[in-house]
Amino acid sequence: MAKKQFKTESKKLLDMMINSIYTHKEIFLRELISNASDALDKLYFRSLTDDSILLSRGDYAITLFADEAERTLTIADNGCGMSREELENNLGTIAKSGSFDFKREHTQEQEDISIIGQFGVGFYSAFMVADRITVESRAHGADEAWRWESEGADGYTIEPCEKVEAGTVITLHLLPDTEDEKYGEYLNEYKLRGLVRKYSDYIRYPIKMEVSESRAVEGDEDKFETVKTLKTLNSMVPLWKKNPSEVSEEEYHGFYRDKFFDFDPPAKVIHVRAEGLATYEALLYIPAKAPYNYYTTEYQRGLQLYSSGVMIMEKCEDLLPDYFGFVRGLVDSADLSLNISREMLQHDRQLKVMAKAIEKRIRTELEKMLANDREKYEAFFDAFGLQIKYGLYADYGAHKDELKNLMLLRVGKEGKYTTLGEYVSRMPEEQKAIYYACGETVDRIALLPQVEAVEDRGYEVLYLSDDVDEFALRMLDEYEGKKFANVCTEQLDIASDEEKEQIKQKNADASALLAYMKEVLGDEVQAVRLTSTLKHHPVSLASEGGLSVEMEKVLNKMPGAQGAKATLVLEINAEHAVAAKLTSLYESDRERVADYTKILYAQARLISGLPVDNPAELSDLVCSLM
Ligand code: ADP
Repeated sequence: MAKKQFKTESKKLLDMMINSIYTHKEIFLRELISNASDALDKLYFRSLTDDSILLSRGDYAITLFADEAERTLTIADNGCGMSREELENNLGTIAKSGSFDFKREHTQEQEDISIIGQFGVGFYSAFMVADRITVESRAHGADEAWRWESEGADGYTIEPCEKVEAGTVITLHLLPDTEDEKYGEYLNEYKLRGLVRKYSDYIRYPIKMEVSESRAVEGDEDKFETVKTLKTLNSMVPLWKKNPSEVSEEEYHGFYRDKFFDFDPPAKVIHVRAEGLATYEALLYIPAKAPYNYYTTEYQRGLQLYSSGVMIMEKCEDLLPDYFGFVRGLVDSADLSLNISREMLQHDRQLKVMAKAIEKRIRTELEKMLANDREKYEAFFDAFGLQIKYGLYADYGAHKDELKNLMLLRVGKEGKYTTLGEYVSRMPEEQKAIYYACGETVDRIALLPQVEAVEDRGYEVLYLSDDVDEFALRMLDEYEGKKFANVCTEQLDIASDEEKEQIKQKNADASALLAYMKEVLGDEVQAVRLTSTLKHHPVSLASEGGLSVEMEKVLNKMPGAQGAKATLVLEINAEHAVAAKLTSLYESDRERVADYTKILYAQARLISGLPVDNPAELSDLVCSLM
């Protein structure tokens, strides 16, 4: 029979499996058992609505069989089975398996098996221990069964075979033992029992195997004989139903990895067993890193929903608020009916109670992490901080009180993280407001003249570089009674009364010059002003009214932008030589003042990160000065 070739990617992975130096080869059993369990899930789920499936819950099982003489290990299930096409698609090309894209994403080209080995590596992992694999399968409801067989990288064959029951039987022809590796072990009863308990104990279907037991011979109590009996090896208690004190970190992490295909151990595991208003178990994970598609519409939020150990929904969105959408995990409640529909769920009171409790629990855990493990929390915030800030802003600030203490913001040139609470606690007594400045990056913000001026007075400035930041702060409006002030707007109010009086006088003295400059700039600015709060920078742009320069930029980036415009004020440093120069030129050479005004305004725009409308004109002006 002609051999069919594996798809390229499958072939690569296969090569890796076959030549693997990976030390945990034993995980192949976990992978095959978990595939079998999925197949049972699928058929069982179908049986809820399909009367032609005659099996009842107790009939579903996974069976292991070790044949010492043939040196084969068999894993059988009576699940959904596979049709010919499914055998080809599922086992002929690993790229089909949902997890592979993800694996590729993370391993890039370095074909490091030790990394690969940490994923759910799936069916192919069996090639780490076998040199020939036969899969006999019959899809439920199909008239024929098929045998798929492969000896590894050079392809596979597929042909009809005899199989009465629906389901799948996988036979591994184990590799010959070597000096280092005794593959024969996988025929050993104790070894297999140990592996099942270690990796697959929580599987909710019985994993059965014939085991030898010695018992007293009937009629002769002194004599013992060994008999074979079919035993269930796993406790079948799902992980989340166990007492947290009985579950090891490795088990929690392994479960997470297998179920959610994330090879980074989670930042936090939350295991809840609640009784009372609602009775449920929840096993929740906060991932260490954001999935590559997290901030896209492709990412699906939600928790798996179980009813008494049976999954009834893959992604239940109503269990998680959007702002905690990064949490993965499941919720199991006996209070929910198996056949509940999506629409009914939305109105389910029980579900609402659970969702509320879950939100609170996640929040408390994050607050604890922030208080007790700053480094970890900052890493969490690097991954999901944007989500928290969006959450604060979303729904007209409906959740701001829940989230404001979870927010970290950058402060100062070094861009260190701070909470608002920490910022406020460090404020000198006379400081009136919580100061912030916006820009593309921390480095850009550090260059803003106003920032330097404020820091010079001994006040800290929050450096906001995410689009959402200023919107979130505006939504909060204040924190512990302190208002927020954008240092590039009229909200900046740091001058002393005496300074204010002085600058008022200077502005009055220069009113003719300033009015002339404003005329030159036309509608571009609301006013031109002298200021005393810029340290050594000659000019800056300030904004007045509700819309800051940064908000203008963000709003104009949005689809369908209406050309939002901040109201700008050009500020000239009264202490700078340029102010004196303008004053004297105003008497002698008005033309010059007009040119200088345009240049100063263009500079101020550039400093604020705004585009210059006519760069060619600017360039001509500067050259003419030279
Ligand atoms: P994954 O489990 O990550 O999807 P695998 O390589 O382990 O990848 O399996 C590929 C696919 O083959 C599975 O998604 C499933 O559709 C199918 N499959 C594997 N084992 C079985 C089985 N015992 N019964 C039915 N289908 C199976």
